[in-house]
Amino acid sequence: MSIRSVRTYLVDARQTAKDFVFCRVEADCGTVGWGEAYTIPRRARGIVEFVKALGAMLKTLSDTSPQEFRDNVTGWFDEGHPSIDLSSAASAIEVALWDIRGKQAGKPVCELLGPIVRRSVPLYANMDPQTKDETIDRLVERCLEAREHGFDALKIYPMEYSPLGKATECVRRVREAIGDDSRLLLDAWALDDAEFAVEAALAFAPFDPFWFEEPVAGERLDDMADVRRKVGIPIVTGERQIGMHHFRAVLDKQAADILNPDIVGVGGILEMIEIARLAESYGARISPHCWDSTIVAVAAMAHACAVIPNALIGEYFPDFVPFCNRLGAIDLDISGSAATIGDAPGLGVHMDEAALAPYEV
Ligand SMILES: [Mg+2]
Repeated sequence: MSIRSVRTYLVDARQTAKDFVFCRVEADCGTVGWGEAYTIPRRARGIVEFVKALGAMLKTLSDTSPQEFRDNVTGWFDEGHPSIDLSSAASAIEVALWDIRGKQAGKPVCELLGPIVRRSVPLYANMDPQTKDETIDRLVERCLEAREHGFDALKIYPMEYSPLGKATECVRRVREAIGDDSRLLLDAWALDDAEFAVEAALAFAPFDPFWFEEPVAGERLDDMADVRRKVGIPIVTGERQIGMHHFRAVLDKQAADILNPDIVGVGGILEMIEIARLAESYGARISPHCWDSTIVAVAAMAHACAVIPNALIGEYFPDFVPFCNRLGAIDLDISGSAATIGDAPGLGVHMDEAALAPYEV
């Protein structure tokens, strides 16, 4: 199979606080696959350029399997200089190639990836503040709304409130509101001071956090391991990192219990599965980060998690849904804090090309 065209879309979503990058890959037989790249604020246009360059390379390949594409990215573009911008762009094309393969086989992508361990993938709702000065009252209100929509796992950012007493009040208020039967995930979003991270985690501990995410930046493995030893709460890291070497080092240092690489930032479906296998050999879990659209990236995440035995829970942004629904739909039933995969071939993504057309770049 050869590739006829690769189109790119940069969607300035405004109300979602970030841009989305999609790609449309068309095979010579006319089958179309959709991909998405993780974007970083102010760097989305550069990521689009990488997608275009990788797309040009893709069109020269006679073997366009996801594995062959992945090998060529490493050989032609990476050259020992890892970059999340490049791996995000590569993720977009890798995911689109899986979508094409699924459609050509007439099967959901998960059925091509390996033995299915689940078709219903647990999700948590990310309750990222809607405004810089969101009050605790408003956060509690939104958590209750998410709870009413069926999410029984919610992630909050208590360090948005300072000093530590107010952050602790935030955790306490949310816990009291959502009840003891919901999981409360805490994201510290990489604190500068590891000792303060320990102090904060111990202050939050009485409210039974499900995990404590990114207490310090993901590269600071010794500090992360130190925090983990001292707090006794599962530690999550990996959303800003890429590469097997990095994740192996996290596990060797016993710095985390759960890895959360972004599904369309880390390289795509194959990379996620390989990292999950590595984590499994250390007794660790995977919880894909997905600060992405609720269409293509969520579909890719669900199909990957369907075959990953040690997948714990995936990330979901309910706030993105109204905007994303204008761009397309997916064959996933999102309810009861889970995404259940349907029978549609490929990723089950139905993008509205007319809605996307103004964003083509
Ligand atoms: Mg995070």
